[in-house]
Amino acid sequence: MRVDEMSNRAVLYARVSSKEQEQEGFSIPAQQKLLREHAQRRDLHVIKEFTDVETAKQAGRAGFNEMLEYLKKNPEARYLLCEKTDRLSRNFWDIATLDDLMNRQGLVISLVKESTELHKESRSHEKFIFGIKALMAKNYIDNLSEEVKKGHAEKAAQGEYPSIAPLGYKNNLVTHRIEIDESQAPAIRRLYELYATGRYSLKQLRQVARDAGLFGRRSKRELSKSEVERILKNPIYYGMFRWKGKIWPGIHQPIISKELFDQVQEVFASQNRAKTRRHRFAFGNVMRCARCGCRITAGKIKGRYVYYWCTGFRGKCGQPYVPEGKLEARMREIVAAVRIGEERVAWLTKLLRESHEDEKAYLDAQVKGLTARYEQLQARLDQIYLDKLDKKIPTELWEQKSAEWRREQDEIRSQLAKHQNANQSYMEEGIRIFELAQRFVPLYDAATPDEKQQILRFLLLNCTLDDATPTPTYRKPFNWLVELAEMKTGGAEGI
Ligand SMILES: [Zn+2]
Repeated sequence: MRVDEMSNRAVLYARVSSKEQEQEGFSIPAQQKLLREHAQRRDLHVIKEFTDVETAKQAGRAGFNEMLEYLKKNPEARYLLCEKTDRLSRNFWDIATLDDLMNRQGLVISLVKESTELHKESRSHEKFIFGIKALMAKNYIDNLSEEVKKGHAEKAAQGEYPSIAPLGYKNNLVTHRIEIDESQAPAIRRLYELYATGRYSLKQLRQVARDAGLFGRRSKRELSKSEVERILKNPIYYGMFRWKGKIWPGIHQPIISKELFDQVQEVFASQNRAKTRRHRFAFGNVMRCARCGCRITAGKIKGRYVYYWCTGFRGKCGQPYVPEGKLEARMREIVAAVRIGEERVAWLTKLLRESHEDEKAYLDAQVKGLTARYEQLQARLDQIYLDKLDKKIPTELWEQKSAEWRREQDEIRSQLAKHQNANQSYMEEGIRIFELAQRFVPLYDAATPDEKQQILRFLLLNCTLDDATPTPTYRKPFNWLVELAEMKTGGAEGI
């Protein structure tokens, strides 16, 4: 179909999360207004509008998919107007589809708030940034909503936890928080330090605890081995706490460092490994039969040679026995495929940092506001304390007011922490994935069969086997890295 070069027809796309919908300036109507005004200024004729509302459970893509279909069928719609990148696209395939529409139908994507227009002739670099931004925006949003969820649980936890402070801490009945108990904390720290060396048994530590005067809080008796173990596995001591099966950041003072805690967990893990080490096959639990969909299992034949075969659960499928040697080279290739060139990693990292600037500006504003409020509360607290000392106000009023303001300060502190966490993981996640991808091959080469299996299962969503040929499906985001790795340098047109 010939597309009219002078066409000025446009579609609009707006998306909100159900959370944003409640806030002024983010709603669908607000976005639509912005886009319609832009269309008017540009003299574009809006022929259709699409919207999506995202909820915690639903990604909200119905409108987006409908729009893609519409654009495919109506190439005269030359313009797609959207507020900004992260409204538009949430995954690699969306970007790929949009790119296809740009190339084939001459679609122009206008990101109004970012003052960006993407089209066939856009530099591939620009399109690539678009891709990265879209992915990272998604990441950031995921992280933030994760932090918000944490916040809710934390709030509930603050009231409930801890009813009784664990050993090493004591309850402060005024602040409802836990504080370090100096009579016990050094002994707790000592237990961690000794166990981290790997040279002490739990039984020996029991004695150390007894000698240090550490006894059960309620029982007042010597600690049992399992109580000592529980202490050594309790994240509360490095500043977190366990609640409803998850680990939350606490506001209490830690007794040990996270590093020491991790060392101790490693000692536990290595002892478990020693207990449960079993022979496993590198490609066991990794593949399914391409012919019948059954699991591919592994075993030794004549006690020596490792073979893989279809369990044939659904009847004979003709899949032959495959000796392990025939799979090794291909499996290594599968692992190596996620590796992207170092030059490209450096470039991606740079792009990530750039795309991070927007979020940073937003974050800085938030942090500034919260900090100001915190200081204002502190000033009030100081003042009211003086007023109380001067007997200008009754003690009850001082108690009531200062408790109220301190609560708000706590709330602000945890909000600040949340922003910092979301912000960091946004950046680091991306960079970590790139770095991780670089390390898989050497890791894999040095791995035991058991570890090889773990690496493969980490990378692959599934893998089919036909004759002696495994065909992988990578997990996100490795699928994306594989595609990226396949592109030639400087030719990021695929995005
Ligand atoms: Zn089969």
